Amino acid sequence: MIVIRGATTIAQDEPQEIKSAVKELLDQIVSRNKITRDSIMSIVFSSTSDIHSYYPAKAAREAGFETSSLFSAQEPEIEGGLKLCIRAMLFVEQNITPHHVFLRGARALRKDLADKMNIAIDGPAGSGKSTIAKLLARDYNILYLDTGAMYRACALKALETGVDLEREEGFVDLMRELALDIVYEDGAQKTMLDGRDVSEEIRQPRVSMAASTVSKHACVRMKMVEKQREIAGKISCVIDGRDIGTVVLPDADFKFFLTASPDVRAKRRYDEMTAKGYEVDFNVLKEDILARDKQDSTRAIAPLRQADDAVLIDTSSMTIDEVLAEMKRRIQEKI
Ligand code: C5P
Repeated sequence: MIVIRGATTIAQDEPQEIKSAVKELLDQIVSRNKITRDSIMSIVFSSTSDIHSYYPAKAAREAGFETSSLFSAQEPEIEGGLKLCIRAMLFVEQNITPHHVFLRGARALRKDLADKMNIAIDGPAGSGKSTIAKLLARDYNILYLDTGAMYRACALKALETGVDLEREEGFVDLMRELALDIVYEDGAQKTMLDGRDVSEEIRQPRVSMAASTVSKHACVRMKMVEKQREIAGKISCVIDGRDIGTVVLPDADFKFFLTASPDVRAKRRYDEMTAKGYEVDFNVLKEDILARDKQDSTRAIAPLRQADDAVLIDTSSMTIDEVLAEMKRRIQEKI
């Protein structure tokens, strides 16, 4: 006998929503596992405490699961847990490798029980990584780790202390003394350097290019990668950067590589910077992005590169919603 797990969410606590969500979940479990309905001995449902209007077990019976014994229970409220979620556990009399099925963002959301998952997103500047990573993390209710911010903080420290950005020697002591902390406030990442919040300061254009230069040094990368692995090893997260899928987390559950044409990327950065009140010249910005791309992809250690097993998405003519939907579809397909 094997056990197959599944979960889904509903938009509102209404009988019709519960019926169709349960039917969809069970049908998907049956088709993805290539099992017959008759081989399902029993199905145990649990739903979050905000679902009252219909029993999932009753919905399953009505959806044609006639021979299985059925049971529904309600879960106590879990702090930070997903809302309006229905979970199912199927006991099946077949000897197959189970494919667990999680629909409508229902994976990894009950932090006390869920499997840990890491979603790696790499790509050049302006490819949409951080915007998308934030939205994915929000939808899956997991952490977003912006690794670029860490290199930017190192660069800021180097600029402030006046070390030569090109020479690695100056960074050995700097890395030893670096007090860099990533903290979260209402789900948003804050980058703390020597106890001060530098989240905004590190976005300055002068810091972008300096970050690219300091990130060439082995001693800088070693320290940053260690910190990134420490965070990602403990908790589910969407993590973005240049070398996540290739070096930091080669075994990440999901890997994406986002790209876009240089003009589109420069335009996105231009809009972002001007919205923040920076005075920037489009052509200068585009030149900076191209110089950074070149430096990032030609450096000796951990260059910007698509991992062989990463899904490539060219976001040039896609909206944010389209990119997000495509990534979720790919994630769902693999789960
Ligand atoms: O992503 P963001 O533009 O904030 O990154 C700033 C710089 O930090 C990049 O140009 C790159 O040189 C470096 N970086 C890196 N590896 C990462 C993330 C960023 O080398 N994982």
